[in-house]
Amino acid sequence: MPMQLKVHQITLPLASPFRIAHETRTHQPTLIVELIDGAGRSGFGEAAMTRYYGLDSETCTAILKNLAPALAPHNYLPPGELHVVLDTLAPQLHPFLRCALDVATHDLWGKRENKRIGEHWDQPKRQTATCYTIGMAPIEEMTAKLRAFPWPVYKIKLGGGGDDLAIIRALRAETDAPFYVDANTGWTAAQTIDYSHELKRLGVVFIEQPLPVTDEVGQARVKAASALPIIADESCQTLADVEKCAELFHGINIKIVKCGGLLPARQMIARARKLGLSMMAGCMTESSFGISAIAQLLPELDYADMDGAMLLAEDPGEGVTFDSRTGFAVWPEGNGTGARFRR
Ligand SMILES: [Mg+2]
Repeated sequence: MPMQLKVHQITLPLASPFRIAHETRTHQPTLIVELIDGAGRSGFGEAAMTRYYGLDSETCTAILKNLAPALAPHNYLPPGELHVVLDTLAPQLHPFLRCALDVATHDLWGKRENKRIGEHWDQPKRQTATCYTIGMAPIEEMTAKLRAFPWPVYKIKLGGGGDDLAIIRALRAETDAPFYVDANTGWTAAQTIDYSHELKRLGVVFIEQPLPVTDEVGQARVKAASALPIIADESCQTLADVEKCAELFHGINIKIVKCGGLLPARQMIARARKLGLSMMAGCMTESSFGISAIAQLLPELDYADMDGAMLLAEDPGEGVTFDSRTGFAVWPEGNGTGARFRR
């Protein structure tokens, strides 16, 4: 039986409007990509249709469907071979779509081997808590959000031009939990260095991407003078960026959709480890299909931001969840990523 490819177009409703430096959202369109192997097993991957990255459901569905005939003769493809096929067939394929296919092949691989994907890998036995993100909003809304969602570690979105230190002081009055701060390129070098001392005093663990990607002079200054570690996000998309990030940052935030899947993500992790960078993995606003894939990387990470599915009013999938007391992953029964359509 030839391998089949199905694309499920889904709109994810958010539990509350989510504001970051670029936009405000109430819904997130997503694609769940299903690869069905010759034995009739389904592997699932996800690609959030993030407008900011130039993605829309109709175009992406058509692109994926165009690949189906070339994948069909394979009956089954291990993840490594999928990437070889895509390098020949569609070298310009958007990394979000490559990621969805990569995860679907990993999921199939795990199901064929009767294992969770992470169990295939030689991983340290480590638990890393995922954070819960508080999006930008008026201070009272941010404190209310935090109060409504007791969690062991929070990521706070800043950099919107307001009084960012006042926000952290107000949130600190609500909880003793550690904070991660993500400025989404909204600060200057001087501001970052200045803020870092007070943020450290307020129990912030690190600052994610304070400066624009192009400001490498500022990044070098900040790395040398910041009181807190600085983690690259917008500056670290693929394996090719890791080397440069080791000069300008203390760590990197890996997103499987940006680098093209779990296989390239693990290459980034191996490179980053050699360079002495701390490692984090982040998510988009995505369902349990995407989150359950990223969670496979958890034992290799220092920090984790995998709250995408927790921010949804409705999740079409079920899979990896997180313990609200520890923030640690709770692994589902199934093999592969463990994610499946909710029954
Ligand atoms: Mg970020």
